[in-house]
Amino acid sequence: MYDLTIKHMPDEGGHFGEFGGRFAAETLMQPLKEIEDAFFEAWADPSFHEERLDLLKNYVGRITPLYHAKHLSAEVGGAQIYLKREDLNHTGAHKVNNTIGQALLARRMGKKKVIAETGAGQHGVATATVAAMFNMTCDIYMGREDIRRQAPNVFRMKLLGANVIPVDSGTATLKDAVNEALRVWVASCEDTYYIFGTAAGPHPFPLMVRQFHTVIGQEARAQCLEQTGKLPDVAVACVGGGSNAIGLFEPLQDDDIRLVAVEAAGHGLESGEHAAALAKGRPGIIHGSLSYLLDDEEGQILGTHSISAGLDYPGVGPELAAMMKSGRLDIDSATDADALQAFQALTKAEGIIPALESSHGLAAAMRIAAKMDKEQVVLVNLSGRGDKDLGTVMDLLGFHDEKA
Ligand SMILES: *Cc1c(COP(=O)(O)O)cnc(C)c1O
Repeated sequence: MYDLTIKHMPDEGGHFGEFGGRFAAETLMQPLKEIEDAFFEAWADPSFHEERLDLLKNYVGRITPLYHAKHLSAEVGGAQIYLKREDLNHTGAHKVNNTIGQALLARRMGKKKVIAETGAGQHGVATATVAAMFNMTCDIYMGREDIRRQAPNVFRMKLLGANVIPVDSGTATLKDAVNEALRVWVASCEDTYYIFGTAAGPHPFPLMVRQFHTVIGQEARAQCLEQTGKLPDVAVACVGGGSNAIGLFEPLQDDDIRLVAVEAAGHGLESGEHAAALAKGRPGIIHGSLSYLLDDEEGQILGTHSISAGLDYPGVGPELAAMMKSGRLDIDSATDADALQAFQALTKAEGIIPALESSHGLAAAMRIAAKMDKEQVVLVNLSGRGDKDLGTVMDLLGFHDEKA
């Protein structure tokens, strides 16, 4: 059912339009080239896909459903809203599509150890999960501040057998963890593979991570045709680094479908406290590639804010930047308050508790659907489930103050 040809290739240097590329230390060029070669070789090998797709089916639980949210659609009073249920994957989000693919590649390259960065801990958990299953040593780099904020995920990673290594540099958050993981990787790439967590970073990561996530868009496209007899009018996804969005959008790019990327507007786009790199950033180099990012006059990366840790990243993948620049991609955003409202609306209307990240996409989708006809279809990527966010939402809704 999956189309395994690689479409929309970047150029040889890994550029999507003017964005992307490989801006890394000299010492990283060779290991990145080795990964690139191994990836293309693996992708052309049917046995690689046989094992990958078998794991996606029997370990992850794909195909994920496409669900017509009838009650929510009726409440919104416009287009029909369909949810791509990535929240039903093993580990509760789309991220495992990527970690399975890269872990298989690591094993194929003869690496016995994997490392990864993590912010909220979701990519760390998805990496530690596959490392446990493949019996690989696993080190997860995590800002000390994030370790403090994300205790349950730190414990999960440790239970899964991973070492969680605190990073104290900078603001001790995700961007610093990426820098540290890249630094450690330079010195250890002989036996170590770096599982990058989103469709950003130096070539070939944006391309490779996208390819591992195209199952999302390919399934959704076929499911929508089957259930509604046509393609969606609009497809919507939240954007942190951009992996769930490009996984949905890539297989829909050549269709007449409006594509909408939804960034975290935090306390508002004008507040300065947000993570909207496409809407409010400018081109620059971050974590090995040229894309949009949030920085100050001196080029220092800015601190970001979002209610959802998974969107709290100052950069964005280069392919989304190129799609925005060419006019193929529309950029929208949702504030913390919008996301919290959508989180509650979906939970009450459909009995589905979404991740706060996904709630941003949902908030924008509801706004868009409200202005459309009942016969039209809005497809939303429900990138993850909300169990991990219950503590945050409890605090925000003041649940602790309520009498039982
Ligand atoms: C990590 C995460 C995101 C953001 O990452 P992308 O690479 O932009 O997809 C979105 N939703 C969930 C549930 C996540 O865990």
